[in-house]
Amino acid sequence: MEKKLFGKPIITQESMRRRIKSLGIKIARDYQGKDLMMIGVLKGAFAFFSDLVRAVPIPLEVDFLVVSRQRDKRRKDGGTVKIISDIASEIKGRDVLIVEDIVDSGYTVTFLREEILKRNPNSLKFCTLLNKPERRKIQVEIDYICFEIPDRYVVGYGLDYKNKYRNLPYIAALDNITAE
Ligand code: 5GP
Repeated sequence: MEKKLFGKPIITQESMRRRIKSLGIKIARDYQGKDLMMIGVLKGAFAFFSDLVRAVPIPLEVDFLVVSRQRDKRRKDGGTVKIISDIASEIKGRDVLIVEDIVDSGYTVTFLREEILKRNPNSLKFCTLLNKPERRKIQVEIDYICFEIPDRYVVGYGLDYKNKYRNLPYIAALDNITAE
């Protein structure tokens, strides 16, 4: 690991473990008796998703989708979001909870909400590991947030910089880099 890129964790493994445990219990209470389908948004949410689903002590199903976001500052909507690999499950009439790594501008969540609602779930909620409210370009409602963070570019625990550092077991900030 290149030490000069980042220093101490800004969120430690221990604080993530504690927060995810209590969030898992809250989700289980909210979805007791419902038909819960948790959908992880790859690649960034893979580590959080696998810890979170194991902290939710009720029956549930999992699926995944892969999105890509092409940023374009010239466009009013900041670029385009595309599903590059879709879920395999039918979600009509089910209680869907989308699990994201980080909500930044809000465009990805907005796009996913529209896409998933077209498929007529019984309910749709969003959960994110990290929320950067200072960066919001479009108002979005997030139902479960693990941590609010300031406007710093972060890596680790699934989040990358140029596809590296996803395996870092904690969240660290990369200084002098901002999400475009
Ligand atoms: P949004 O559509 O909300 O702007 O974008 C969210 C996506 O931007 C995340 O799923 C993630 O891929 C990327 N992103 C935003 N901020 C950061 C950050 O601080 N670190 C990393 N690694 N990705 C980020």
